[in-house]
Amino acid sequence: MVQVRPPLVRLQSYVPGRKVPGAVVLASNECPYGLLPGVASRLAEVTGGLSRYPDMGATRLLEALATRHGVTPDRIAVGAGSSEVCGQLLHTVTGPGTEVVFGWRSFEAYPILTTVAGATPVQVPLRDHAQDLRAMAAAVTERTRLVFVCNPNNPTSTAVGEAALRAFADGMPDHVLIVIDEAYREYADPAAVPDALALFGDRPNVVVLRTFSKAYALAGLRVGYCVGAPELIAQVRKTQTPFSVSAPAQEAAVAALQEHEEVTRRAALTLKERDRVTRRLRTLGYDLPDSQSNFVWLPLGGDSTAFTDHCLDNGVILRAFPGEGVRVTIGLPEENSAFLALAEAWRTESTG
Ligand SMILES: *Cc1c(COP(=O)(O)O)cnc(C)c1O
Repeated sequence: MVQVRPPLVRLQSYVPGRKVPGAVVLASNECPYGLLPGVASRLAEVTGGLSRYPDMGATRLLEALATRHGVTPDRIAVGAGSSEVCGQLLHTVTGPGTEVVFGWRSFEAYPILTTVAGATPVQVPLRDHAQDLRAMAAAVTERTRLVFVCNPNNPTSTAVGEAALRAFADGMPDHVLIVIDEAYREYADPAAVPDALALFGDRPNVVVLRTFSKAYALAGLRVGYCVGAPELIAQVRKTQTPFSVSAPAQEAAVAALQEHEEVTRRAALTLKERDRVTRRLRTLGYDLPDSQSNFVWLPLGGDSTAFTDHCLDNGVILRAFPGEGVRVTIGLPEENSAFLALAEAWRTESTG
């Protein structure tokens, strides 16, 4: 009989956000404003070339990213979403007998990709909905090869600040790769949340992960990347599934980078809505941490599934983490209002 690796059998599958035709989708942290204007036209131009393999070196995209970040292209590796890049980093430095440390709850791909790579996840409980960097540092052993710091953290929306992150990085042994996942960078307050590239860009044991899936509105095309030391990046590139970033994905990402101002404008709209949603929820009596992302976290504990079902029955899809909380993506103003009306009704029903 075919022998499946036991850790894989025990592993829970990734739970994607639900899709119901006609429903308001606030479940997957996507950008609600659709493709960036220049991206759609560029995509129409490149589909004719799809019978050919894409540029495996993603040359144009690497150059555009290098220009954006003020680094040389040899410091960047791309993948089919930053999820693939997470896996690539794990395959580069971990394997059976090694450990990977991260806060929990955090991005649900971390335990899955760690286990698939053959390593052992070490999940360190959050404290006040935030990553407890001291406890994470204390969980590092000589078996640890990689730590993930999701900043801001998905799904709890909180971020760690510069002083704490610097102390954490300074104290980390050289054999541990620190992966700082900045999928929601564009939504974070730059005064409160450090830019890890600016802070640690020159350290050989730090890699920064970014994605086109969120603020750049390209979740469906699958492009992400990491920035790190050239010696490490050369190895990370070997672990990419060949040609995993399609030509449309590469071209769309290049076009999206040129629309940086539109990305910033849209992010500002989302932040305005995030503040409105947060204020209203608090007025209604909900307890929630300040968000540095394009979503908010409602720590509803045992009510999480019932709350999410109540919203789903009324046409709004959220993401529940049963027993823990509910993640609500900030959508268009009218979508957020639809959600707030349901949150108010829930409150009235459960207290009245
Ligand atoms: C959404 C998300 C990503 C990006 O995933 P892609 O594979 O690039 O779509 C990465 N990290 C975190 C924490 C996320 O929430």
